[in-house]
Amino acid sequence: MTPSPRAAHGTPDTGPALLDEARRLAPGAVALRRALHRGPEQGLDLPATQRLVLDALDGLGLRIRTGRALSSVTATLDGAAGGPTVLLRADMDALPVTEATGLPFASGNPGLMHACGHDAHMAMLVGATRLLAGRRDALAGRVVFMFQPGEEGEHGARHMIEEGVLEASGARADAAFALHVHPNLPAGAVRLRPGPQMAASDRFRVVVRGRGGHASAPHTACDPVPVACEIVLALQTAVTRGVAADDSAVLSVTRLTAGTAPGVIPDTAELAGTLRTLAEPTRRRLHEVIARVARGVAAAHGATAEATVETGYPVTVNDADFTRFVLRTAAGTLGPDAAGVLPAPYMTAEDFSYVLRAVPGALAFLGACPPGRTPDEAPSLHSSRMEIDEDVIATGIACEAAVALSFLAGGGPEPGR
Ligand SMILES: [Zn+2]
Ligand SMILES: [Zn+2]
Repeated sequence: MTPSPRAAHGTPDTGPALLDEARRLAPGAVALRRALHRGPEQGLDLPATQRLVLDALDGLGLRIRTGRALSSVTATLDGAAGGPTVLLRADMDALPVTEATGLPFASGNPGLMHACGHDAHMAMLVGATRLLAGRRDALAGRVVFMFQPGEEGEHGARHMIEEGVLEASGARADAAFALHVHPNLPAGAVRLRPGPQMAASDRFRVVVRGRGGHASAPHTACDPVPVACEIVLALQTAVTRGVAADDSAVLSVTRLTAGTAPGVIPDTAELAGTLRTLAEPTRRRLHEVIARVARGVAAAHGATAEATVETGYPVTVNDADFTRFVLRTAAGTLGPDAAGVLPAPYMTAEDFSYVLRAVPGALAFLGACPPGRTPDEAPSLHSSRMEIDEDVIATGIACEAAVALSFLAGGGPEPGR
């Protein structure tokens, strides 16, 4: 077998020694994580968070760019030799949650909390940046570090793509990788799956228009309330009967509003909810189904209904070859038991999906079940009591660095496929 030209640079040491190196960087990363945790910010504009990240990257010899429409940080590490570009990403934003962990470094910003672990993501990526910057001489290629605001519903990744993050190194990224901590997976476990790993998330709203009147004489009116109720049930039937059992979709009506007084039949009723799907064709079809069911049920009762769908994040799809590469690399660095295939997708959504739609790569979960808990009962992501095991920060640093080192050394799927 002829070795690929890229392998000529030699295989980097991505074995257990890399984990030892990550552990030496961990105290600094944990301190950064706690500082970030103390000062959570929400949305696309995170000035204090951006400042902490910029300070932490200072002096590492990176090419640094900040965002225009958002307070992002894009840092490029140029290896000593030429080669492909690999992108590593951390999200930066917090959630409108009042923290109830009682931790000594709990949020000092009322009503905001890093309840999705993005503080840990930034700390791990800064750690990986330090580790990789220390090995610049052995790198053939470039690493782009993408620090991204606005993951929680603000499409921050899409904004960064529009501002050129995928070309930040001077060439288009050949691969992309991100980690997301997960308190309901065993601490230190790296879990991902090929293909759809997280759902597309859309919101819908249906307005039913009837004709109001006196509640004692509904026959003289056109009551939109029972029509709205029938639409809720018909939408459930449309999903369970219309989507194949091996192609998951979830439709939840979460808001139902109508009326002003017990004696008055209202003119309109409104319902709203979320749709989660794992395949784009199913997603598009269900958008049409929602409109058709609403219209049809309303028409059957002499009312009208109008549905609108607000599209959210796309399906997060992991490249199959890159997923195998990550599993192999994580096992080599963290030990054979650490890496495993996620048995089923999650119906949550992620805007790293925009990156993975443009560049082959993967998002992996990093188990972070806190000490003294079991993965089943640990408070979940977005909970006001969400905690992580900070020991996994070293694991994350090692995993991200190993993926970058190994990819640039030719251990991953061929760039430019
Ligand atoms: Zn989240
Ligand atoms: Zn998150």
